[in-house]
Order: sequence, then C-alpha cells, then structure tokens
Amino acid sequence: MILVDFLIQRLRSTLNSAFMDSKIRADMWRERPNHFQMLHEIYYNGELPQDKVDEIQKRLSVSMGNFLTSKTFTDIREKKEMHFVEAERFRFMFIDGVKIFIVMDFLYRDIKEGKWIIVDWKTWKESFEDRHQLALYELYLQRVLKVKSIEEIVIRNEYLLTGTHKTYQLTETDLKKVQELFGMSVVQMQRYLDDIIANQPMDFNQFPKTNTLKKCNRCNYRELCEMY
Ligand code: SF4
Repeated sequence: MILVDFLIQRLRSTLNSAFMDSKIRADMWRERPNHFQMLHEIYYNGELPQDKVDEIQKRLSVSMGNFLTSKTFTDIREKKEMHFVEAERFRFMFIDGVKIFIVMDFLYRDIKEGKWIIVDWKTWKESFEDRHQLALYELYLQRVLKVKSIEEIVIRNEYLLTGTHKTYQLTETDLKKVQELFGMSVVQMQRYLDDIIANQPMDFNQFPKTNTLKKCNRCNYRELCEMY
C-alpha cells in the first residue's frame, strides 16, 4: 500500500472509532471522558450530517497528499542535517506570573544552518492569528530551551488544504508586540475573575453572549449557556 493510502486509512479508522464512541459508548464517555471521544454534532444533534462526512473525506485525501509533499516532511525525510526534536508535547511557561500552556505540533533543527524550526499544521484557512500563536512558541524556545538568538529560530505554518506554507523570521519588535497583545488579553480575561489569585471566575451570567451566532454551533459550552 502506498504511504498516502496508509495514512488516510489510519485517520479513517480513528474517525470511525470516534463515531462509534459517540453513538454507542456515550455512557462510557460520560464516566471516563479522557478514554472515549464524543463528536460535537452527535452530542447536540444525534447525527453526523452527510455533507460533513463528504467534506471530511475530501479533506482527508487532499491534506494527506499535501502533508507528504510539504516542506517540513520533505526536509525530515530527505535531508540528514534535519534533526527531529519533538512533536505535540505538553509544555508550559510563565509570562508575568501567568502560566501558559504550549503544545507545538512539530519542532526540528537544521544543524547545518544552525536553525530551530517550529511548525504548525493547519487544516483550515490562513488567519491573522497564525503568526501570533507561533511567536508565543518562539518565546518558549528562548525562555525555556535557552535558545540564545532570535536569528536561530524560524516559524512555519503548513497549510494542508492548499499545500502551501509560510515561513517567518520574527524580529524583536514582533516579539514585543506579541507580549503586549498577550498582556492585554490577560487583563481582559482577569476582568472576569472574582479572585485572580484563586483563578475563580465571576458568575456564569456575567459573561456576555456572543453576537456572532454561528459561533454557538461549534461552542463546547452550548449546553450550559442559557440561550439553549
Ligand atoms: S452557546 Fe457558546 S458561543 Fe453561544 S452565546 Fe453561549 S457560550 Fe457564547
């Protein structure tokens, strides 16, 4: 079997297992949610719409084809100077006393060029936020892995639906901006805490509802929200 078919089959089997968990093992999922999976659509509507299934099938084959020809996969597969460091490990760091959780999709090194390359796989469209998220990972490399110079770090978004990628070399100004943005977000979030030290949120009804109703369709808190 060729590699792309193998990958598609593996992912299909993972999705089928999630579908079966959602349909016939919902009680087990309620008891042990970290051992079973629940699809949002089935939880709220009892079914997975056919157009969604068709869309997933289409995306699977396009994304896996593009993954195998991506810049990152080609680097790792063909160049001996590229060294894998880690993938999807749960990490954290503190910025101004706030604990930030970090999960990098993929991190590798180009030994010849002396670079660390942080990669994020995207299965959706490009967004303005993509670069900011990777800038936080860059801070993690500097603060926790003690990478000395910003020049040694490259960040890359791999867009699996289009088979394109964007690679950036950030500047100190970019990092400063991201830290400012982060600081403003923290202040905003803290406005919704009754007790900042204990991380105790305000009462549920103090949180304004979104005006963008289509967000509700994908919201994990829909059941709790009094709108429903
Ligand atoms: S369902 Fe979710 S997104 Fe919609 S208003 Fe409620 S909490 Fe906000």
